[in-house]
Amino acid sequence: MQPIHIIGGGLAGSEAAWQVAGLGIPVVLHEMRPARTTAAHKTDGLAELVCSNSFRSDDRATSAIGLLHEEMRRLGSLVMRAADANQVPAGGALAVDRDGFSAAVTAALAGHPLITLRREEIDGLPPADWDSVIVATGPLTSPALAAAIRAATGEDALAFFDAIAPIVHRDSIDLDIAWFQSRYDKAGPGGDGADYINCPLTRAQYEAFVDALLGGDKTGSHDWEGTPYFDGCLPIEVMAERGRETLRHGPMKPVGLTNPHAPQEKPYAVVQLRQDNRLGTLYNMVGFQTKLKHGEQTRIFRTIAGLARAEFARLGGLHRNTFLNSPKLLDAKLRLEAAPRLRFAGQITGCEGYVESAAIGLLAGRFAAAERRGAEPDLPPPTTAHGALLAHITGGHIATIDAGPRSFQPMNVNFGLFPPLAQAPTRGADGARLRGPAKTVAKKEALTARALDDLARWVGSGPRMAAAE
Ligand SMILES: Cc1cc2nc3c(=O)[nH]c(=O)nc-3n(C[C@H](O)[C@H](O)[C@H](O)COP(=O)(O)OP(=O)(O)OC[C@H]3O[C@@H](n4cnc5c(N)ncnc54)[C@H](O)[C@@H]3O)c2cc1C
Repeated sequence: MQPIHIIGGGLAGSEAAWQVAGLGIPVVLHEMRPARTTAAHKTDGLAELVCSNSFRSDDRATSAIGLLHEEMRRLGSLVMRAADANQVPAGGALAVDRDGFSAAVTAALAGHPLITLRREEIDGLPPADWDSVIVATGPLTSPALAAAIRAATGEDALAFFDAIAPIVHRDSIDLDIAWFQSRYDKAGPGGDGADYINCPLTRAQYEAFVDALLGGDKTGSHDWEGTPYFDGCLPIEVMAERGRETLRHGPMKPVGLTNPHAPQEKPYAVVQLRQDNRLGTLYNMVGFQTKLKHGEQTRIFRTIAGLARAEFARLGGLHRNTFLNSPKLLDAKLRLEAAPRLRFAGQITGCEGYVESAAIGLLAGRFAAAERRGAEPDLPPPTTAHGALLAHITGGHIATIDAGPRSFQPMNVNFGLFPPLAQAPTRGADGARLRGPAKTVAKKEALTARALDDLARWVGSGPRMAAAE
């Protein structure tokens, strides 16, 4: 049987190789290290963790990432097996001994009879006779391959110096203070004239906000972050440094808006949030790209009227990243529409994080293996963490006309990506009406229970892994 070629032995490529081989299909895994390395990798091990050693919360009942862990375990994930075997104490989080973790993944793949590991850089589009390829070369894809992918996709950019803006859960925004309205009630394509959530600031609040930005702790830049940011995408604290009024004439301009809660009072400045996913559960802070430290962002942004209790699905950040405009370029099974023999996996598809990258590798591996056997791959239900993440990458995100050339940004898994419950729980096991945090916990528990039920049905209907399930 023809092998499936996987380029990149990181989190996604390693998991994809394990899944493909576990389903009985031969794999050739091409990893360029140690002959050629990236600015962040330090070893020649597969699935090297380039920064933190944490896989984040392992709480499968009330956390979306914990649920993703659990789903991966149930799908025979090598990354989760190696993580569990190399766990170090970290409270409710799953943290690992990074060397032990990478060594376990490397040994499992090197010892698998169906996997051939080749230490080589693929520096252009794969040869035409590789009829099924998974590209999992990550945020630091080697420049030669990145250039070839850019040419094949027709995109004018692939590697970005990301200044990303925070994303807020819609149901944590206080609409007794904020309100829905587009500037001048303009109804753009697909909009109805009330597409933005607006948070008003008085002059005193604006001045205090600018002071907080100027005094806020910024993350240090790394040597590998060589790409300059461009003027259209400046971090807000850099804008504030250029002048106290700059923000008020930029993303925070108060024009074309009337606050229905206080129609006589003209806001001095306005923060706008724009719908970020089709479900309407997530809103991004327009023009609020920032490199403030995460704790500072939460502290400073919660001082904005209407955001006092904001829950962030993603905080802003700045780093070099290579990723596709996936909703436009990939089909639902992660294949490049323009060249379906190429499938993408991991962070290059626009997910964010070690676990998410591995999870998309897991799906890409399963899809490629099913196709090799002549079957049409079955998509995971959108109610599962895998399905929700896949939907974000391949279609859930909505691009808006004023969002710039690329509004799609990498995202961690979070409950905002899940379709809402048909009926959110209102009463606890004791029959008492749920309120406050207890209500939020019950909602999360209902989402995770639904996910695991739906995953079980999906697993039951699919092929079984020979090695690990
Ligand atoms: C500096 C940095 C820090 C990060 N910190 C964290 C963090 O703390 N926590 C977190 O959850 N996420 C973090 N991320 C985000 C992301 O989750 C990780 O980058 C993750 O490793 C992505 O998995 P991946 O498999 O897509 O890519 P990678 O794990 O990077 O794997 C890609 C592999 O492809 C190889 N490769 C690249 N080009 C070629 C080529 N042409 N031919 C052959 N091989 C090639 C690389 O050597 C590498 O082994 C960080 C990212 C960066 C860049």
